[in-house]
Parts: sequence; structure tokens; C-alpha cells
Amino acid sequence: MMARRIPSILPDLNFEEALEITKIHSIAGELPKNTPLITTRPFRAPHHTVSGTSLVGGGRIPKPGEISLAHYGVLFLDELPEFNKNTLEVMRGPLEDGIITISRVNATLTYPCNFMFVASMNPCPCGFYGSKDKECTCNPQMISKYMGKISRTIIRQNRYTNRSNSSKISKIR
Ligand SMILES: [Zn+2]
Repeated sequence: MMARRIPSILPDLNFEEALEITKIHSIAGELPKNTPLITTRPFRAPHHTVSGTSLVGGGRIPKPGEISLAHYGVLFLDELPEFNKNTLEVMRGPLEDGIITISRVNATLTYPCNFMFVASMNPCPCGFYGSKDKECTCNPQMISKYMGKISRTIIRQNRYTNRSNSSKISKIR
């Protein structure tokens, strides 16, 4: 998968960055065994059923979510329209700010979430809209309903669009 390779073409982490990533993973209880320091950029690809809390962080004692676990790395959302619109909406502010503040009765915590946002989606439900290989079988209503599933703000925050061979559109922030 193309998206999974992105961290490997990004610049190497410096020591401070590696330390920051390690701390976040440690707090989240996601530090792999026998790994005192994470030295590679994270790649996180949560499933489309991910909850808002798992995505941005939370819980009684607020833990970092996927967006913070992707700090200095890549957050990849495959099949973007399959994600719950409200779940994606909670990501909007942190995506702009590079930090997420989680307030609970007993604690208010701020975690960094400076990541590259990559998402993929088909151009239409059947996947062949605009394709030279096969004709699209969707009607305009189906296409507009499909596109309407994604938050416009999330789309605006994506700066580059790339159409890969599989006719999937990848969006890279
Ligand atoms: Zn189609």
C-alpha cells in the first residue's frame, strides 16, 4: 500500500522528536516491548469504526488517541466516506492546531498531534467514475450522496489530491 510507505520517505526523526513520540506511546500503553525509544515515524491506520474517543483521545484519565499516536508520522484513513462524519468532525480543530486538549472532571491534558493526514476514497460508490478502464454505473444522486458523507472542512484541510492506478483518490494534507 502506497500510504504505508510514506513514513519511510520522510526525514529521519531527531532525538527530541523520538522522545516525544515515545512518551505519547508510553502514556497510551502502546510502547512495544523491548523498545526503549521509538526511532521511526509512526503510521496509524484506524478502522472506519473508530470512535471519536479512540481517534482524538479521552477516557476517564485522558489518554492520547490515534491523532497523537500519529504525531510526527502519518494518520491514514482508508475509505474516508465510511468513517462517521461526526467522528471526523472532532478531528478538525486538532488538525489545524497540531495539539488536542482533552478536558475531564479530574484532569485537562494537552497532547501534541502534528501529523500528516492521508486519506483514500473511491471517486464514487462503484469506484469507476472517470475511469478509462470501466464505465461507472452510479447515477448523479448516488455520487453526490457518497461525496456528501465527507466533511467539507476535512476536504479543505487536504491540500494535495492524487489519483492512483486503482482509481482510488488519495488525499494528502
Ligand atoms: Zn460509479
